[in-house]
Amino acid sequence: MVSGGIAQNGADIIITTNGSFATGNIFSQTVMILHELGHAMNDIFGAGTSGILNDDSSVPNNTQVSMQNTSLIVNECFFNGAPPTNPILLP
Ligand SMILES: [Zn+2]
Repeated sequence: MVSGGIAQNGADIIITTNGSFATGNIFSQTVMILHELGHAMNDIFGAGTSGILNDDSSVPNNTQVSMQNTSLIVNECFFNGAPPTNPILLP
């Protein structure tokens, strides 16, 4: 699982060893981290500083908004929404 929240001087992104992050492949893990970084941008610099919309439980239809956020990442950050054929592994 990957989640985030506001910290005193920034934002926290928490990755746990259970849930979809741990069982996902490198593509889905990358999408999840970028999704959460979008929330962190809004938390640190103000709403609207990233294209990722608030999708916490206070938002009506938040599951649908979350899925739209994830689709935005897939469509805008990857060629034709597909994972790279030769991913670059960073140290
Ligand atoms: Zn989200």
